[in-house]
Amino acid sequence: MHFEKLLSVMLMGKSEGKKPVSEMNIGLIGHVDHGKTTLTEALTGKFTDEHSEELKRGISIRLGYADFQIRKCPKCEPPRCYTRFERCFFCGSETELKRVVSIVDCPGHETLMATMLTGASLMDAAILVIAANEPCPQPQTAEHLMAVNVVGIDKIIIVQNKIDLVSEEEAIKNYEQIREFVKGTVAENAPIIPISAQHGANIDVLMEAIEKYFPTPKRDKSKSLLMYVARSFDVNKPGKDIKQVVGGVLGGSIVQGVVKVGDEIEIRPGIEGKDGKYEPLITKVTKIMQGSVELEEGTPGGLVAVSTTLDPSLTKADAMVGNVVGHVNELPETLYEVDMEYHPLPRMKGTKEEFKVEKLKVGDAVLMNVGTARTVGVCTGVKGDVCTFKLKIPICAKEGDKAALSMQINGRWRLIGYGVLK
Ligand code: GDP
Ligand code: MG
Ligand code: ZN
Repeated sequence: MHFEKLLSVMLMGKSEGKKPVSEMNIGLIGHVDHGKTTLTEALTGKFTDEHSEELKRGISIRLGYADFQIRKCPKCEPPRCYTRFERCFFCGSETELKRVVSIVDCPGHETLMATMLTGASLMDAAILVIAANEPCPQPQTAEHLMAVNVVGIDKIIIVQNKIDLVSEEEAIKNYEQIREFVKGTVAENAPIIPISAQHGANIDVLMEAIEKYFPTPKRDKSKSLLMYVARSFDVNKPGKDIKQVVGGVLGGSIVQGVVKVGDEIEIRPGIEGKDGKYEPLITKVTKIMQGSVELEEGTPGGLVAVSTTLDPSLTKADAMVGNVVGHVNELPETLYEVDMEYHPLPRMKGTKEEFKVEKLKVGDAVLMNVGTARTVGVCTGVKGDVCTFKLKIPICAKEGDKAALSMQINGRWRLIGYGVLK
């Protein structure tokens, strides 16, 4: 057994049958400075550690991923029985591992909707972080909620953060603003949990809510493999002896199916040829990692790093982002032109700059996010709600898949709605 594997098993406690493997991805969304990164740390307790661990492996994370364990004290009452620690803070009992989930934080360019949308395509559920000490909604509070709406995420918990900074009266007023704001959206019936991420207050209540409202989605293992590539790497140090060079690494989330060590996989659209057509790549899986745990098979949930026999120059510096991975001949076709049914965004209450693009017309250039793929489509025809787009970079997608659509409005890419592939 690998030392790391052994270590992680030891850290987990011996008698538990469960492997510390993530079962689902939960996104943290909301306006900048409302506390997403602080909450990630409060939940996982090791965000920075894991980050530097990843850096050591040559894998720096642009979309922040951090796994955390939901553990339960067998003696204490809920919600205080919920913890990420191995010992109960209240009674000292050994706690039991319920499951491991991954947090997807969208760091840095929070205002870049495209980054947010890439993250959203990997989320099974979302926590909307709203600061209690500011009027609701702030611009990205609304935009991020619209984005998860568009991608089709309907499992949402709202946290009212920074509760330590407001009086009870202000907290109630803010709560009412939130309730009003989410009316008519996917978050209409979402629970609203007051917390202080910085002081660790009510984190146990949030964990209880995650257990209740975010059950692990049912996964059909017999479905064909589909993985969205969100990162890709060349993990070799420059000047390494050619005989020791290891193959390219693909990082991303598995949306459905299973990938095993030894599998032959196909990557689409692949690489561009001289004629502008893309050639899929076929390669072999040599290793699968999740954090520091080596896996025999990769399943949905968390960020998996799949090592391959690809020439590492193909995967360096995120070059493979936006591709999909499947078993050979099981992926959808590569499309250079698509027909999409256009659904404009509903207008949202309380947003400052209101705009709405009711109809698209020939010549409009639209930024499309499909899974982790990002391309520009130029509208070449409109028939009722259905628009035809010529794509700058092809996508690998099938009928019924959704694309988030953005347009440049006053010099900024703004989400205008979504398209459903015909
Ligand atoms: P993000 O942009 O949404 O990731 O927000 P951050 O997590 O970076 O937090 C922004 C700022 O708010 C930081 O200075 C945090 O220390 C602070 N902050 C976050 N949560 C709380 C909280 O619960 N109470 C207080 N008082 N400050 C907080
Ligand atoms: Mg942040
Ligand atoms: Zn206890």
